[in-house]
Amino acid sequence: MATSASLDALTSKLREIHHLHDAAAVLSWDQETYMPSGSGAIRAEQLATLQTLAHNQLVSLEVESLLGAFVDIETGTVLPEHQSSLDDTSQALVRETWRDFSRAKKLPSSFVNELERESSIAQQVWVEARKTNDFQRFLPNLERLIGFKRKEADYLGYTDSPYNALLDTFEPGATVAQLRPLFAELRTHLIRLLDQIRNSPVRPNTSILTQSFDTTKQVDFGRLVLKQMGYNFQRGRLDLSAHPFTTSFHPTDARVTTRVFDNDLPSCLFSCIHEGGHGLYEQGLSARYYGTPLGETISLGIHESQSRLWENSVGRSQAFWKYFYPKLQQTFPEQLGAVQLDEFYLAINHVGPSLIRVEADELTYNLHIMVRFEIELEVIEGQVQVDELPDIWNAKIQEYLGVTPSNDAEGVLQDVHWSFGAFGYFPTYTLGNLYAAMLFHQAKKDMADLEQNIGQGNFQPLKIWLNDRVHRWGRQYSASELIQRVTGQTLTSEAFIKDLEEKYGNLYQFSTPPSSKITP
Ligand code: ZN
Repeated sequence: MATSASLDALTSKLREIHHLHDAAAVLSWDQETYMPSGSGAIRAEQLATLQTLAHNQLVSLEVESLLGAFVDIETGTVLPEHQSSLDDTSQALVRETWRDFSRAKKLPSSFVNELERESSIAQQVWVEARKTNDFQRFLPNLERLIGFKRKEADYLGYTDSPYNALLDTFEPGATVAQLRPLFAELRTHLIRLLDQIRNSPVRPNTSILTQSFDTTKQVDFGRLVLKQMGYNFQRGRLDLSAHPFTTSFHPTDARVTTRVFDNDLPSCLFSCIHEGGHGLYEQGLSARYYGTPLGETISLGIHESQSRLWENSVGRSQAFWKYFYPKLQQTFPEQLGAVQLDEFYLAINHVGPSLIRVEADELTYNLHIMVRFEIELEVIEGQVQVDELPDIWNAKIQEYLGVTPSNDAEGVLQDVHWSFGAFGYFPTYTLGNLYAAMLFHQAKKDMADLEQNIGQGNFQPLKIWLNDRVHRWGRQYSASELIQRVTGQTLTSEAFIKDLEEKYGNLYQFSTPPSSKITP
C-alpha cells in the first residue's frame, strides 16, 4: 500500500513538471508557426523561465526524496525491498526517472544558463555567417560552444570518449565503439551502390516533379495522405513552418508541420509523410503514463525510425503509389495526367550525390551523416582544431560523395545543429534508417498481406502493429532492447542494405555481384 501511494506521489509530481515542459512546447510550436516576428525576444525569455522552473522542480529535494524511496539516489539501483514489490513497468518508471534526475543534477544550473545563452547567441551568429558565407565569423562562437560541450561531457561523465556522453543525450546507450564498425560497413555498401547507380544508363526524369503545382492543393493532398495513414486530426493538426517538425503536448495533441514550394512536389508530400510517422508515434504513446518516462518516446533514433519507415519503406514504395498515384494525377491532371506511374516512381526515388543533406536521397543521406559524425567526434575529442573544419569537411564530402562545396554555406555552415550545441545528434538520423528497415522487415514477416494492404490504401494494420510493438511502451525498454524484442536481432545495417540493393537494382537495372551480397 505504502509503495503504490508513494509511486502515485512521484507520478503526480512528474506530471506537474511535464505541464511546464508542455506549456513551453506550445510556446515553441507557436513561435515556429503563428507568432508575430516582432516578439522573438520576449518569447525567448518566456521559454527560458518555464524551462528553468521545470529544471529546478526536477532536481528539487522533493523529487529526490520521492525517488529515494525506491532507488539508491547515487547509483539508481532499485532498493532491495522494492525489487520484488515493484513490477517491471514500475521499475522502469523509477529507473528512467532516475536517469533524467541524475543527468539534470550533474549539470550546475549556472552552467546550463551559460550554455543556453551561448547557444542562443551562436545560433544568431550562424544565421548571419551562413547568409554571408563567412565561417570565420562563426568560428569564435563555435570554439566556445565546443568548449562548453566538452565541459558538459565532463560533468555527465563517460567512458572511452567524451562524445559518448553527448551521444547518450539523444540516443541512450549508443557508443562510438558501436557506431564506428556499423557505419564503416554501411559506408562500403553505400559507396558501391552509388557507383553502380552512376554507371547505370537509367536517367530518372525529375523535371516532372519541379513543374508548377498549386500549393493549397499540395497541402490538401498531404492532409489526405496523413488521414489515410491513421494520423488523427482530432488529436493533432497540420500547419506550415520554415522547417517541418512534430511536437506533442499529450497523446491527444500531437501536431505536425510541413512546408510547401510551388515548384517542388516532393518537399511537401514527403515531409507530410515523414512528420506523420513522428506524429503517429506521439499519438500512440500511453496517455495513462503521461508525464512519466513511460509516456515518452525512447530516443531520437527510434523516433526517426517511425518517420523513415513511413516516408521511405511505405511512402516511396510501388504499392503506396499504386494506390495514391491516380489520386495525385486527379489533383494535378495538367502536370501529371500524361506521366506514367513507373516514370513518377523512378523520379521520386532518384539517387544522386548532392551537397545539401536535407535535399539528399534515401541512399546518399547516410553518407552526409557519416561526414558529420566523423568530424564532430574528432573535434569533441580534440583531435582537430575548429578552424580546420571547412577543409576537413570539403575533403570528406569529396571522398564520400564525389562533390565539392563551392563555399561554406554549401559545406560546413549548412546545418543548424552545431550552432545550438547539438553534438552527438546526427548519428540518430542514420540509426533511424537502420531501425526503420529492421522494423519494416519484421512487419512484413508478421503480416503476409502488408504490401497488398498498402496497395489498397489500407494502412490500419501497419499502424496498429507499430502502436503495439513500438509506441505504447514509452521508455519501458531501451532502443536496443526494443529492437531485440520486436525483431529478435541486435542492430544491424543488413535489412537497410538489402532494401536498397533490391529497390535500386530494379530501378537502375543493375544486379549486385554475389561476392558483395551480405550473408544472412
Ligand atoms: Zn524526422
